[in-house]
Amino acid sequence: MSMYSEQSAVTVLGLGPMGRSLAGAFLDAGLRTTVWNRTPGRDHELVDRGALGARSVEEAVSASALIVVCVVDYDASDAILRPEGVTAALTGRTVVNLTADTPGRARDTAEWAATHGIRYLDGAIMTPTPTIGTPAAVFIHSGPEELYREHQSLLDALGGTHTHLGAEIGRAAAYDIALLDIFWTAMAGYAHALAVARAEGITARELAPFAKGIGAILPPIFEGAAEEMDRGSFSGEGNPITSAVSSMAHIVHTSEAHGIDAGVMRAAEGMARRAIGRGHGADGFTRIAEVLGRR
Ligand code: NDP
Repeated sequence: MSMYSEQSAVTVLGLGPMGRSLAGAFLDAGLRTTVWNRTPGRDHELVDRGALGARSVEEAVSASALIVVCVVDYDASDAILRPEGVTAALTGRTVVNLTADTPGRARDTAEWAATHGIRYLDGAIMTPTPTIGTPAAVFIHSGPEELYREHQSLLDALGGTHTHLGAEIGRAAAYDIALLDIFWTAMAGYAHALAVARAEGITARELAPFAKGIGAILPPIFEGAAEEMDRGSFSGEGNPITSAVSSMAHIVHTSEAHGIDAGVMRAAEGMARRAIGRGHGADGFTRIAEVLGRR
């Protein structure tokens, strides 16, 4: 007989870079960890470290009361969870889906789970794989509070900070989308900046210290913007949209003079010009969020 109970066991479905990191952290915490991946052979290193490699999803699911799913998107997690035999094996167990997708897909999965007597939590991971199992990891969760509390100690084995954002199941995915919106727009800006800098004979290494400086001015701007957004007033004192838009136009002109696509900045400039057109030229940049949100 196993020395572990199903209650101190966890199953990880999906062994991409993130799934492998999650399973590794559970193993490091001493939990009985069962793993499965669609493409076989991704579990070798984990099995060497003590994981149980399941031959089927049913077998993986049956090994633990808590099932953590982490695959590319919810089409993939549906393909894993929704075949009849798997759904039957999941009944009465808890699924924590740490796969990234839209709030709508999280809500749809919760509905499916409820129909089949599967207990369901949704979540998202906000930090890269090397953080998992360390204090730097950031996880967000949503779904029934009691269910979250029941599994909290096992989830804590993943390290870092875990925040339960509320019972509404789509909330973690909604935060994830908003935060990834910041991340990918910033990364698109950075990639574009490197291209423009290179065209002007500036290496990425030369730009880096100044680029980091731009990153560092953002946190207090986010704080101020949050207050303005929630208050609904947008002070342009010191930097009105009319001034921002002229700086954006310089970026578009310089890029296009080098034959570099300026689509992202043109889109941003367009939003700023629409806000000016609606009479908000003297306001601060965050006014754009309010204008975009109008129905
Ligand atoms: P991927 O997003 O590339 O996901 C790979 C996993 O998805 C593999 O296990 C793969 O299986 C599986 N998969 C893909 N399609 C299917 C399918 N149709 N059926 C079954 N399984 C499928 O890699 P990650 O592990 O990095 O990411 C997993 C999740 O974690 C994503 O939602 C991602 O956004 C999120 N995340 C990742 C971070 C990171 O730093 N990597 C950071 C924060 C969040 P197979 O091996 O068979 O192809």
